[in-house]
Formats: sequence, structure tokens, C-alpha cells
Amino acid sequence: MAGRERRHVRVAVIGSGFGGLGAAVRLRREGITDFVVLERAGAVGGTWRDNSYPGCACDVPSHLYSFSFAPNPQWPRNFSGQRHIRAYLEGVTDTFGLRPHLRLNAEVRSLRWNTTGLYWEIETADGPLTADVVVSATGPLSDPKLPDVPGLDTFPGKVFHSARWDHDFDLRGRRVAMIGTGASAIQIVPAIAPEVERLTLFQRTPPWVLPRADRRITAAEQWLHTKVPATRAARRGLLWGIREMQVSAFTKRPERLGMLEMLAKNHLRKAIKDPGLRAALTPDYRIGCKRILLSNTYYPALARPHVDLVPAGLKEVRGSTLVAADGSETEADAIVFGTGFHVTDLPIAQRVTGANGTTLAEEWKDGMAALRGSTAAGFPNFLTVIGPNTGLGNSSMILMIEAQLNYLADYMRQLDLLGGGFALSARQSAVDEWTRKIQRRMERTVWNTGGCDSWYLDANGRNTTAWPGTTAEFQRVTRRVDLAEYEVLRPADRRSAGAGTEVAV
Ligand code: NAP
Repeated sequence: MAGRERRHVRVAVIGSGFGGLGAAVRLRREGITDFVVLERAGAVGGTWRDNSYPGCACDVPSHLYSFSFAPNPQWPRNFSGQRHIRAYLEGVTDTFGLRPHLRLNAEVRSLRWNTTGLYWEIETADGPLTADVVVSATGPLSDPKLPDVPGLDTFPGKVFHSARWDHDFDLRGRRVAMIGTGASAIQIVPAIAPEVERLTLFQRTPPWVLPRADRRITAAEQWLHTKVPATRAARRGLLWGIREMQVSAFTKRPERLGMLEMLAKNHLRKAIKDPGLRAALTPDYRIGCKRILLSNTYYPALARPHVDLVPAGLKEVRGSTLVAADGSETEADAIVFGTGFHVTDLPIAQRVTGANGTTLAEEWKDGMAALRGSTAAGFPNFLTVIGPNTGLGNSSMILMIEAQLNYLADYMRQLDLLGGGFALSARQSAVDEWTRKIQRRMERTVWNTGGCDSWYLDANGRNTTAWPGTTAEFQRVTRRVDLAEYEVLRPADRRSAGAGTEVAV
């Protein structure tokens, strides 16, 4: 490192999706301007930049799936498409003056806590820096997961993941294999079916699919929402309230979800007349155990004559032949993996080394755990946005993100009150107590009792991703930092350089 200059900042935010941009706005609102947003790609937007596959849209209504502090009266549809959501995030970046803070193409390679100086040493693709506080907003849906399929390297055709769509590859006239039946795949299937010569869908587990109540938001509504902001707020409030009322069925009384199962079965019956295909598409676990999917076009696409369902996972590839777990064989020119993301084994965790010299991934090898979804023991001044057990089954993640940003704001206030150079480190006992309470509540939830395997559960079968309560409750428990849950680290041997100065290391 000799001779290299490290820039020091008060806060380094990692990622520029909803979480990172939201953190940046929140820091500025707290009067903190000495921060950078480190982004590995060349543009902001996170998952809404990366996922540009045909048909990509959000199935949480846009008036709820947006920041409370950046309302958009012009949302074009109930469920807006990727293009509009991405444009919204670009707009937030401009409106809140975030561009000067952005460091694009600055992938974080490593983070190491300096135990004597009480700051983070950060190596990025754009050079090194140090920071008092790190906000990790890398998101759970950022690193694509490809199954380890033997022989995949022998496939002579095109292969890509749903989050890395190759728009230069023309699907017209091709035999395409789609792997997976999650939220991404069920949007892709109806979008590409009209183009391809043959589409084969590999389904390991059938999802529950409900009708999608999507429609255009009329010009009159948009006008009203612009001129009378209270109507926009009321719309958001209604969308939020309905979802809050549904929570207890997911978290406490899964048997109440039976009504939704009837609705979903009816939806399936209307579109699929072939009893064999219908049976293959009928789930055998409680609705809500996996994420409930919304689509009016998925089942009709599967009923098309040139679309086939293989009711088994992809097991092996032999050249251009795809072998399913049921032994059936399919010839294909292209494979599209809609196989999800590294959610319970966040790749960033391998790059963060804390106060004990261990990485976050090592500390989390038996399951992710963080106080109030944010701070892990042994990793001072390191806050995660969308951390462990902050995920939702039925509402808008933006509500959870904003709650975590309130926690961040109070964290920064507490550090200010302590005076320069102090750090906070979550007590192991507090993290354990928080985790114990969550896991106890998790026992009754549909995610744990519904009889399915989902990405909510980690390799040990523990649910380290979902929040077992309402968003209002999460907002309440993240309003303030309770200093009793933290050890205060004193700046005994801290370097003398102030924030924002250049420090030679
Ligand atoms: P996902 O929900 O994790 O689904 C992955 C799919 O791949 C599952 O169906 C899984 O089967 C299947 N799979 C894995 N290995 C397989 C194999 N060898 N053969 C066949 N199938 C295999 O991933 P995703 O669809 O990308 O969605 C991830 C999350 O992103 C969603 O849950 C949602 O939160 C978000 N998302 C939201 C929207 C939206 O708002 N509309 C759209 C896209 C994504 P099993 O079920 O058997 O494991």
C-alpha cells in the first residue's frame, strides 16, 4: 500500500439500487454529505438495472413500491415495468443530487475493520478508501445463482441467466429451454413464447399463481395524483393497509390461506383444460410457502401447442440434449436459467472481515443473523440494508428499506452524540436474543410450516430471510438505536486525520 493515497469518508454506501440510493438520500437529509456510493456497474438501479428480461415488471403496485419521500404521480400502470422503475431510480438520483456521490465501476473487493483506528479499509476496483461507517446495500437479488448441472459446459448453444439477459441473441426460430418456475420465469415464458420455435419449461416445483389485477393508470388519475397529492397518499395508504391485514395469515394462521388456494386453482382450471397438464401444474404445498406469483398470461402460454412442460428439474446436459430428473430428454438451442439468486449466502459477506479477523460469511456459516436486520456482532459500524429477516412475502420491500434507513439515521445521530471517532458494535447477546425471538415466531409461519422448500430457507433449513410480522411492527422496532444493545468502542489509538481528508497509508 505504500505510496497509495486513501480517501477517507464518513460513510461508504455499497450498491445503488433502492437500498443504496435510499441510504444516500437519508444521509443527505441528516445533513451528512461526506459519503460515497460505491457501485460495481456503470449505472444505478440495482436489480432493476440488471433484470431487463422480456416481460420484467414488479408485482407490487408501483404506488407502494416507491419511496415515500419520492412519490411519482405519473406511474403508468398498477404494476409498472422494469423500464419505468429503472427510470424512476435514475430520477431519484438526479432529484436528490446524488450523482456527485456516485463511484461507478467501483466494485468492492474487500472490506477490513481497522481495530485500532476504528474505521473500515475498503479496496475497490476504483482504488482504496477508508470510511467510519459502511452501509451495505448490495441486495439479496443481485448475484445470479446457476445450478451445478453436470455437462453444462458441453452445451453448444447459448446459455444465460434471467438477470443477465443477452439482448443481442435472437430467440426467433430457436428451441429454448427455460429452467425454473419462479417470479422471473413466469414473466419470461409468456413474453418469449410467441417468438420461439419451441419452448420447454423445466419445472421442479409448481408455483401457486393468482390472477394479476393489472391495468393502466388513466391520465385522469395521474392528473388527480399530481394536483391533489392527498389522493396519491390515500392510494398508497390503501395498498399498504390491505397488505398489513393479510400478514397474520402468513405469519400466524396459514390455514386461512386456503381461500387463496381455491382462487388459484380456479385460475388454473380456467386456462388449462388438459387434466394431465393441470395436475402437473397443481402445487402440493400451502400457498404462500413460496412467493405467490401473479400472472394472467403464464397458464395460457403453457397451453400453446409449441410450449412443453417437463415436470422435473434439469439434471444433466449432454451436448444439445437436456436430461431432466424424470429421465426425459429435450433438444435445445438455448438455455435460459431463471434459477434465482444467492440470497442466504450473500457474496459480499465473503469480502467483509470484521473485528475478530473472520469474514461475515464465516460468522454466518450457520445462518445469517443481525440485530434488527442491520448489524452483526463483531462488525462495528457496518449496517446492512435488507439484512437478515427483513424480507416480505406479500408487501413492498421499500417499506422495509425505509425502516432500515430510519435505523441508520439514528445510528449516525448516536455516533454524533458520542463524539468523533467512536464506533458501535452490536453485542453478541443482543443479536442472539433478537434472533431467538424471530426464530420462535418463525415456527408458526407458512414459510416454515407450508411443506415446501424455498429460498427463504438457508442450507440448514432456517428461515433467515423473512420478517415474521407487519411492516408497521418493523418500523416500530427500527425507529431508535438502543445503545444497551451495543458496545461503544473508544478511539484510543485513532489516527488523527479528519473525515474527507487524504490519508497516506
Ligand atoms: P426463484 O424464485 O429463486 O426461483 C428459482 C426457480 O428455479 C425455482 O422455480 C426453482 O425450483 C428453479 N430451479 C432451480 N434449480 C433448478 C433445476 N436444476 N431445474 C429446474 N428448476 C430449477 O428465482 P426468481 O424467479 O429469479 O425470483 C427471485 C425473487 O426475485 C422472487 O422471489 C422475487 O422476490 C423477485 N422477483 C420479483 C418479480 C416481480 O415482482 N414480479 C419478478 C422476478 C423476481 P424450486 O422451486 O423447486 O426450488
